[in-house]
Amino acid sequence: MSSFAMQRRWGPMPRPNKIMDYKPKDDSFIIISGPCSFESEKQINEIAKYVADSGATHLRSGIFRAGTWPPAKFGYIEKKAIESYANAALKNNLKNIIEVLNYEDWSFDFISDHCSAYQVGCRAMQHYQLLHKLGTKGKSVFLKRHPGTDIDEFLGAAEHLLVAGVKELFLIERGSVTHSKHVRWDLSLSMIGAVQAITKIPILADPSHGSGRRDLVPSLALAAVAAGANGVLIETHYDPDNSLSDHEQALGKNEYIELMAKMDRVRIALK
Ligand code: PEP
Ligand code: MN
Repeated sequence: MSSFAMQRRWGPMPRPNKIMDYKPKDDSFIIISGPCSFESEKQINEIAKYVADSGATHLRSGIFRAGTWPPAKFGYIEKKAIESYANAALKNNLKNIIEVLNYEDWSFDFISDHCSAYQVGCRAMQHYQLLHKLGTKGKSVFLKRHPGTDIDEFLGAAEHLLVAGVKELFLIERGSVTHSKHVRWDLSLSMIGAVQAITKIPILADPSHGSGRRDLVPSLALAAVAAGANGVLIETHYDPDNSLSDHEQALGKNEYIELMAKMDRVRIALK
């Protein structure tokens, strides 16, 4: 019996062949960093520079925003913002990821032309038609776990992407809805090992959304590295308190640089 099947106790037995057979391109550690939201060309260039200097591999920044509440001023795609964002990554030798929500209008092709990888945000994890379309573009995909879903639903979405033709896939654990009140979402560190027991698809941790608290982000990031995560997603801003969105979880520049150095030390100690 496969390791996937052994872990199931009920229900129809799925045959997730693609996730079981998946072979990652390499074992490089992924660091996705940047602000929650794109604010200006100046903002993204400044942040891209310090995250690149500190060892990030990918730039992030919400452009195609999809917050929980209808946004007052942002939430719409601006071509110019996408271009500025992609340029900031390029200038600093970073790959970039862009969240994709829609495949039915001009934005899908435009984003596809400007991103190194798609981010499937948690809200779209089970938007199977979108997942199927992503397979047609030949780009890498970062799939975030919806905060109310379990490991089968997460890996089922991953299987949809692979069946659709996605060649390079990454998973991101970003926390669950919780009855506790001390965090925004509760990062599930056990998800890392549990996923790795089933598939070799790299899994990253997002302690920024997975806590919503700047004071907890560093310890959770270090714990995720110690737990074997294949990378992290960290939100940072040079003026975190005045970030357009998610200001409570953004690390300031110095805290970010300090965390990157500590993460290196943990990774070296674990080798
Ligand atoms: C994000 O990473 O920009 C984001 C909004 O995260 P999530 O989809 O996990 O809510
Ligand atoms: Mn955010």
